[in-house]
Parts: sequence; C-alpha cells; structure tokens
Amino acid sequence: MALQMRDCFGCGVKMPLSERNYDQKFHASAECWSLFEEILAAEFQNPLLFGQVHQLTVDTYAVQHAGGQHPDKSVCIHLAGLCLMLESGVAPVGVPPLLQRLANRTIWPHLDPPEERASLTVYDVALADSLQTHALRVREWAEQVWQAWSPHHGVVRELIKDSSIGRNG
Ligand SMILES: [Zn+2]
Repeated sequence: MALQMRDCFGCGVKMPLSERNYDQKFHASAECWSLFEEILAAEFQNPLLFGQVHQLTVDTYAVQHAGGQHPDKSVCIHLAGLCLMLESGVAPVGVPPLLQRLANRTIWPHLDPPEERASLTVYDVALADSLQTHALRVREWAEQVWQAWSPHHGVVRELIKDSSIGRNG
C-alpha cells in the first residue's frame, strides 16, 4: 500500500500523512509540526545546543510558516529575531529580552511570505546525526529563510530601529 503524503503549507516538506491534528497559529502541517517538536525536545535536552541555536530554530521555523492564520505580530517578531542574530550578531540567548520589548508595539505590518521558499526545512535538521551537525544545519536553514525574506528586510530593520532594540539603539 502506498503511503499517502502531505506537503506542509508553510515549508513544503513532504511527509507521510498521519492522524495528528494541528490547528494552532503557525501555517504548518501536523506532521511538520511534530517534527519541530522533536527538534525542540532535542535542544531542551542539551544545554550547549540550546544556548547555541534554540532561538534560531524557533525564529526560523516560525518565519518559514508564515501565512494562513499566522498573526502578523508573530511573523514580525520572529523576523526581528533572525535579523538581530544574523545581521547584528546578537547571541541567541540575548534575543528573547529584546523581542519582549519589541512585542509592546500595537501596530504590525502585514508581510506576505516570499514566493521563493528556502530549500532547507526542519526535516534537514532532524536528519542531523550529531549535535554539531544539528547546530550547523540550523544556521544554514536560518540563513536561507532570512535570505528568502529579503524583500522585507527593510521593514524588519525599521521595526528594530523603531523599538530601539538594535545594537546601537
Ligand atoms: Zn513545515
């Protein structure tokens, strides 16, 4: 019997259809979301990995699953996280307090997901056979997703500047 497959709405990863349901805010298939949960569990179990990449993993996954019911506020905040880490060189563990300050805004722009998708997904991270590879893959994945969103980089930088959370802010 052939396995029935389902594409994730956000990142496009193709996985065997399961009985699972996912109806929360991210624009993700239930199968993709469960893979993300496994990645998070692996990061929570390893303090080093957690410190190095956890925030990158969360922000990258969220941004790659924009669209559908995913609120503008969430997409913008996670994009700001990527910008702070990848452009300003803020360490992943230093990002959450900055994003908390950003979250006080009341008005959020709507940013349409880019047509070009990053080719890497959470699936590529799941395939990593060591902690080192896991960390490397997350970085490559984050870079790709951030690049895919280049049409909106200007808006994201403005959000950061506006909230005075940038390095020089
Ligand atoms: Zn996905």
